[in-house]
Amino acid sequence: MMDTICTEKFYGGKVRKRKLKSNVNWVKTYRVMPSHILGPTQFWQVFHRQVDALTTAAEYSTKTDTLCTFAYQRPSDGSRRFVVAHPEVYWWYYKAKPQEERCSYEVIPKDSPCWLYLDLEYPVELNPLCNGSRMTRTLIDIIRVYLLTHYHLLCDRNNFLILDSTSSTKFSRHVIFTMKDMAFKDNSHVGKFIKIIYNDIMLYLKSDMQSHGILNQFNKVDIEEMLVETDHGKKLFVDSGVYTKNRQFRVYLSTKWGKQSHLTVSTDCTHNPVNKCRDKELGIFLDSLISYFPNKQNLILLEFFNRSDVKAQLYSKTTPTQYSHKSDNQSSPYPEIDKYISNLVDPGKIRIVKYSDKTKTLRYEIYGNRYCENIGRCHKSNNIYWIVDLNKKKLYQKCHDEDCSDFLSTPKSLPEEIAFMLDIEGDTLISRLTVNENIT
Ligand SMILES: [Zn+2]
Repeated sequence: MMDTICTEKFYGGKVRKRKLKSNVNWVKTYRVMPSHILGPTQFWQVFHRQVDALTTAAEYSTKTDTLCTFAYQRPSDGSRRFVVAHPEVYWWYYKAKPQEERCSYEVIPKDSPCWLYLDLEYPVELNPLCNGSRMTRTLIDIIRVYLLTHYHLLCDRNNFLILDSTSSTKFSRHVIFTMKDMAFKDNSHVGKFIKIIYNDIMLYLKSDMQSHGILNQFNKVDIEEMLVETDHGKKLFVDSGVYTKNRQFRVYLSTKWGKQSHLTVSTDCTHNPVNKCRDKELGIFLDSLISYFPNKQNLILLEFFNRSDVKAQLYSKTTPTQYSHKSDNQSSPYPEIDKYISNLVDPGKIRIVKYSDKTKTLRYEIYGNRYCENIGRCHKSNNIYWIVDLNKKKLYQKCHDEDCSDFLSTPKSLPEEIAFMLDIEGDTLISRLTVNENIT
């Protein structure tokens, strides 16, 4: 096993015994994270080269343990090292560092799913009248309309995590759009998406073009405010250059080396946590990571090629082996719906699921839970089943008891995220099902 803990190096400990007095140590005492049998892997390796770290992170990530690559700058000289670790483990060591030594970056691996992220900045002196908070809100609202227009994705301001490290000279923020089981395919797609928005805004402001379907919905004064004065002329306060391959993005509570302006949660941030943790700070840290997805299989990936070519597809579709060797009767081609039904009937279980192409319905036979809405209690010997209507995106319960033969429970709606997935994935999933039926 590669469970070797090399945290001494992170702290500068063993390897630098002779230089203990120097400030290369992260903390004075050497700590070891207590490990739990169900906890994350204690994997920890330090690298000099980013490429080696990225390769190792990819190689040693498993279905249950996603490893990330972090870059950190050593307090002594600012030189970079790379650590591969599970984010929870990294956090455990990282949070113990003295504040002034927290200089860490997440490496966003190329070709990996990531959240939509923004780097916002402008020099304060040149823009004394700008209201950064209002500008952030305007931009978030514009992005929301673009997401709705291109992906039919409904989100609100609570989906945006806003981190701030503004100093007296520079306005500086990171904004991260978080949504459960939703990501862009990789950061190049985020980059294209943001650049389209960027160009639209510039064109809208520069020309007297009266009509722009999306931007017209906003107050032009608010949009104009996002255009700031810089040493290189007027620009939007959005840095569109942060979507390069293997980009390093500063993490929560870190400062740039040699400065003392740490990224903290902005006072106007109303973010709803996606990673709910007992340790709230850990939750914020995990949410702020651009490329950490503990459950990749359920991800819906957004792609953006140009404004007329956008796509959304399931991550598991990009790794088809995931489904193909699963030909048991307890799962359908809709793992998300299976999961939803499983939870719904818990402690009962799915005995068998059948799909009807003709009626576009799924039928889940249940055992271990005989609760029937018709009689308001459990049947003694007859089982119940659930029907999912994929067209109507509704589900209802039926029953094998003779007395209930005509009974249909009050239909429930499928959760938003599943309904959304059906909209965009319907055709592809059906075709996948056909293939699967042929091999069973
Ligand atoms: Zn019944």
